[in-house]
Amino acid sequence: MKAHDGMYIGGAWRPAAGAGTIAVVNPANEQVIAHVPAGTAEDVDAAVRAARAAFPAWAATPPAERAARLAALRDVLAARQDEIAETITEELGAPEQFARQVQAGLPVLVTGSYAELVASYPFEEKLGNSTVLLEPVGVVGAITPWNYPLHQIVAKVAPALAAGCTVVLKPAEDTPLTAQLFAEAVDEAGLPAGVFNLVTGLGPVAGQALAEHEGVDLVSFTGSTAVGRRIGAIAGAAVKRVALELGGKSANVILPSADLAKAVEVGLANALSNSGQRCSALTRVLVHRDQYDEAVAHAARAVAKYTPGGRIGPLVNAKQLERVRGYIAKGVEEGARIVVGGAEAPLDQGYYVSPTIFADVTPEMTIAQEEIFGPVVVFLRYEDEDDALRIANATVYGLAGAVWAGDEAEAVAFARRMEAGQVDINGGRFNPLAPFGGYKQSGVGRELGPHGLAEFLQTKALQF
Ligand code: NAD
Repeated sequence: MKAHDGMYIGGAWRPAAGAGTIAVVNPANEQVIAHVPAGTAEDVDAAVRAARAAFPAWAATPPAERAARLAALRDVLAARQDEIAETITEELGAPEQFARQVQAGLPVLVTGSYAELVASYPFEEKLGNSTVLLEPVGVVGAITPWNYPLHQIVAKVAPALAAGCTVVLKPAEDTPLTAQLFAEAVDEAGLPAGVFNLVTGLGPVAGQALAEHEGVDLVSFTGSTAVGRRIGAIAGAAVKRVALELGGKSANVILPSADLAKAVEVGLANALSNSGQRCSALTRVLVHRDQYDEAVAHAARAVAKYTPGGRIGPLVNAKQLERVRGYIAKGVEEGARIVVGGAEAPLDQGYYVSPTIFADVTPEMTIAQEEIFGPVVVFLRYEDEDDALRIANATVYGLAGAVWAGDEAEAVAFARRMEAGQVDINGGRFNPLAPFGGYKQSGVGRELGPHGLAEFLQTKALQF
């Protein structure tokens, strides 16, 4: 696998300040496929300086010109979609079709959506005797996770650039090759030097240096709640803006009037996609006690088509594998029942876990409370609608959810009472323009669409 041995700073690939490297491993066969430089505070500083230098001119660029650059970036990402998908399959283990359609396909859509949005976005509004100007925040420090390597980058960089901000990206150490391809795409799309900069490296070193850098005006982070909390504290101490996209433990609520089989199947497809490594995964299925056994039996049948090495890829690394196995053991220990799956390795090599369904799960169990980030789904019983709502809202998270009912209005009435940033009604489709982000400890701020763009703007009022 071809990898750059430098950082993309100020419009060119530059040698890294230090000699350290990070090995990139293919999680399907545990082979090292490349090395990338491990950035230091010095690299971060050079990147932030480049972003600062580029900021005034980029901020003053007419929105139509920014739209044209984003459209060019979308076209490059589309033209290189196969190569990007192959890279994501190699470094994340995503099955080929999923890598192509979702992992590499969604970023094309999202970049395109910002090319369109910025062309017509109202960067000025009238309010009585005031004109309110919506101006870019400045230099953005973006820190991203590995689960959707390109989508997580684009969901920050595209709106930041659309707003007129400049960016320094520190991508996840597990998936830096996709980030390097993105930097190549930015270069090919003709974005001015310094508008986008890439520093690969370890979280506690390069990531922390970026979050702490005084030249960064806004830190946009996606990842674990533990690290998010630290980043929020650093940003708070420096009085700089922060956006946090953290974990989830989202509920799939099946009301008694719903199409039970469909609700179970669609919910499983959601929870198991990307091997369950998604923050919005519908990992808790809530079923009325009268339908519970039928729902669990149906899930056990439906899960058969999700074979490890086929539709289910490996987990990203050995650490995640151990983490997920630990949660499965904990579920058994606390009295839940494994219906299918379990902690045993399903294949001879690779970081695979079998899709695992737990029944007889009660709301206070660890596997009903904590984010597992693997193909593990828990089924919970409820007595009545109020009980279902209480269980659905009884975690520290509030990222996503789903409600199924015979009548759409019934599902919507339930969704209004849920503490979650996004709720799918009767299998509603993903919308790349809909605001994505969490209530409670799932985060601060929103990504995607016009709400995602607004995160990178600050307001100035002129009085007349
Ligand atoms: P993480 O939070 O450790 O890493 C996310 C990003 O933050 C990476 O780029 C990492 O290098 C960086 N980082 C780590 N420590 C840092 C620090 N001290 N300062 C600045 N940046 C730092 O997440 P992980 O270890 O890759 O995954 C662990 C858990 O996080 C998962 O099991 C899952 O629960 C959660 N997660 C959530 C999402 C999401 O989309 N919300 C994505 C990936 C992981």
